[in-house]
Amino acid sequence: MKMETLAVHAGAEVDPATGSIAPPLHLSTTFLHGPATEELHGYIYVRDKNPTQDRLEAAMSALEGGEDTLAFSSGMGATAAFFQSLEPGSHVIIPEDVYVHVRDIAREYFTSWQMEYSTVDTQSAPAIAAAMRPNTKAIWAETPSNPQMKIMDIAGAAKIAHQGGAWLVVDNTFATPALQRPLELGADVVMHSTTKYCGGHSDVQGGCLVFKKREPLFEKLFHTRMVLGAVCSPFNSWLILRGLRSLPCRMERHSANAMAVAKVLAQVKTVERVFYPGLATHPGHTIAAAQMKQFGGMMSILVRGGWEEAVRVISRVKLFQPATSLGGVESLIEHRASAEGKGSTSPKNLLRLSIGLEHPEDLIADLLQALG
Ligand SMILES: *Cc1c(COP(=O)(O)O)cnc(C)c1O
Repeated sequence: MKMETLAVHAGAEVDPATGSIAPPLHLSTTFLHGPATEELHGYIYVRDKNPTQDRLEAAMSALEGGEDTLAFSSGMGATAAFFQSLEPGSHVIIPEDVYVHVRDIAREYFTSWQMEYSTVDTQSAPAIAAAMRPNTKAIWAETPSNPQMKIMDIAGAAKIAHQGGAWLVVDNTFATPALQRPLELGADVVMHSTTKYCGGHSDVQGGCLVFKKREPLFEKLFHTRMVLGAVCSPFNSWLILRGLRSLPCRMERHSANAMAVAKVLAQVKTVERVFYPGLATHPGHTIAAAQMKQFGGMMSILVRGGWEEAVRVISRVKLFQPATSLGGVESLIEHRASAEGKGSTSPKNLLRLSIGLEHPEDLIADLLQALG
């Protein structure tokens, strides 16, 4: 079945008890079991699994083409659980440009977990290959990356990972399965902050790990989630599932709007660079065009000048809203260096834009007056 059909129907089986077309929301934390804790209805306790989360997981598995999915309380909950499932002594490769708190996990916690990491320019396959060590257990990847929109060749990185006996994990938050399917390209695990495009309406937090194969990682991570507790709540599962129904449609419009905005911004004198993989001038354009259906709703720009000039642009926008996060229906703009704070590696004049579902002419008009 095609993506649009899967998005509408996966995990949407009609409720046998009531016939309800919309999925029921089961808030119960506990489920009737037998006298010696025999599972009677498939569930025991909310932290292990629950019916609403099961539906979300089935839908994510279908969309990403994985055998199974684990939903988490946030993208960071999913990320931390993955790293915590690795053995002490493991080495992990992390991109130079990566979601700021992924770098923070490595920097702040790996030592006490007796793990090591290298930061690598994952745009370069030789650089990834050179960073592999005998104890490398995972390559963590983000493509497009947050916030500099760098592109990694997923199939190439998968080969390098597997030759070295490591997992390739791809954070697919920016692209979503509607535009990019890393498991088909050889990745072993996909991570999402479902807080972003999957939820799609800036009103729910969640994360997930989608596994290409159930064995051997899934069982281990299922246990990690149950013991360490970063599960998705039933209500959040329900909202994210609802968001997924319109994901392919939304991504089409986000992508078309972003392309229109990027083309105009590339001509603006006060803009030094536009990082959008849909532009032919983007260094990762060819790879992005090969592994993505469209280029998504995220972009970043370098404002001519420095920190102050960049912040001034944000103080002038009227339609774009200055706020962090991304992937909602409304357009957001953010000065990434000040948002990331200590440890930020973003250029001081970088603004990150999450292009929403407004009409592109209105978005362009607002940016042009703010960039004036
Ligand atoms: C937001 C984000 C995360 C973290 O997800 P949370 O749901 O906020 O914990 C990870 N990776 C990327 C690319 C993100 O944008």
